Amino acid sequence: MTVRGIAILGSTGSIGTTALTVLDRHRDRFRVAALTAFSNDALLAAQAARFEPGFVGLVGDAQKCGPGWSAGEGCLIEAATRDDVDIVLNAVVGSAGLGATMAALDSGKRVALANKESLVMAGDLVMEAARLGGGELVPVDSEHSAILQCLAGRPASEVRRLVLTASGGPFRDWDAGRLANATLADALRHPTWRMGRKISVDSATLANKALEVIEAHYLFGVPYDRIEVVVHPQSVVHSFVEFVDGSVLAQMGVPSMELPILYALTHPDRVADSGVPEFDPVALSPLTFEPVRRDAFPCLDLGIQAGRSGRAAPAVFNAANEQAVALFLGGTIRFADIARAVESALAQLGGLPGGTRDDILAADASARRHVQELY
Ligand code: NDP
Ligand code: MG
Repeated sequence: MTVRGIAILGSTGSIGTTALTVLDRHRDRFRVAALTAFSNDALLAAQAARFEPGFVGLVGDAQKCGPGWSAGEGCLIEAATRDDVDIVLNAVVGSAGLGATMAALDSGKRVALANKESLVMAGDLVMEAARLGGGELVPVDSEHSAILQCLAGRPASEVRRLVLTASGGPFRDWDAGRLANATLADALRHPTWRMGRKISVDSATLANKALEVIEAHYLFGVPYDRIEVVVHPQSVVHSFVEFVDGSVLAQMGVPSMELPILYALTHPDRVADSGVPEFDPVALSPLTFEPVRRDAFPCLDLGIQAGRSGRAAPAVFNAANEQAVALFLGGTIRFADIARAVESALAQLGGLPGGTRDDILAADASARRHVQELY
């Protein structure tokens, strides 16, 4: 069996650390070739000591680098394009991941994509890089992993609908009055998943689900009017595909990112001893589904509308959301202000051109500035 070299970008985060747990279990198949973090030097040093990668990069703080480490923004691209790397797991949070996604695809690597923001910002460019560079884009996001598995290679023309499931987040059943006073601690208390702070807030606003609808549109080539969202609080059904003949396939499992991460590395193969606990439908019962409360969570439709508009609108949505979430995490704005900031940025900047990488980066910067200036 060929042992494949993996670069983990964002190895100190929630997805990065889960990936290293998975890789530790599968040392016969994979070798950790590169690790990068932003500023968590202590955890990065411990990971480097255990996995002995050929490259270690700390993007955000040159002062804290260990011996032989690289520093600075170039780390991500250096790690993603090394000769001894076959697969790049991009688990960086936010638009900082775009350069590495593009560079890895340009150099023909498989990208196991957790960093959905890069695909949302620049969907056409990323998909084109995958086509032209000979690389391959495989989703880590559990919903998209589910859809990939259900599709099993069938074309978009056979798909009647993709249905993404959403847990509904911590505010699923909160009324408008309660939502207006939601605190940061409330927003970070996700009912079914343990995740980084930014995606936890995105799950509370449902901006995450909008990012995922756009992600699904690009990955699977299905138009927006055939992608739907349903709330499923137990997070056991990871998503559905309804085919043109009416047959509906779903992929299920306990809510854990271990399997989607492993599958992104081995797709289309499946490995034994995945470490995933046995599926017990009785213990996981009942499974319930309900419509999204779209009025209570305006970020969902704002994002989907941005996806439909095209040009730089998805990049503006993504960047405005990132900036607003950063302000919310920092205690500057309230929960409901996130959607207001995103709406304002889209109204002002949603029509910007998005045809080139420079267009996208300019729109991203303008959207951040716009939100910053609102507060
Ligand atoms: P975390 O915040 O837990 O981790 C983010 C990682 O990225 C850390 O290693 C961090 O380093 C690094 N990082 C942060 N900023 C930068 C930067 N500017 N440049 C380079 N590296 C940076 O996030 P998650 O692991 O939860 O999420 C990562 C990505 O995966 C996101 O795009 C998210 O949407 C997606 N995702 C996550 C899921 C989950 O279950 N967590 C599920 C599906 C998708 P440091 O620790 O040093 O700050
Ligand atoms: Mg997801």
